[in-house]
Amino acid sequence: MFLAKELATAASEDGDRAIFIGRKDPQSFSVLINRYMKRFVICPVCGSPDTHPDREHRVQILICEACGARSPTGQG
Ligand SMILES: [Zn+2]
Repeated sequence: MFLAKELATAASEDGDRAIFIGRKDPQSFSVLINRYMKRFVICPVCGSPDTHPDREHRVQILICEACGARSPTGQG
């Protein structure tokens, strides 16, 4: 669900929807995966990937095992 939304966003950012509609470019896809990782896996406070998702007041958050930061995810 997220990836579909992200693909549409990236496509409009690139101004070339054909990249994703015509043929799935594996390089562009890995860029999206990296973006996903940064937003949903990497702790924005300390940069550690040692995190797990949780929910707080219906908001999806990321709990960092390294520094204990609780960051909202999926914003924007
Ligand atoms: Zn952290």
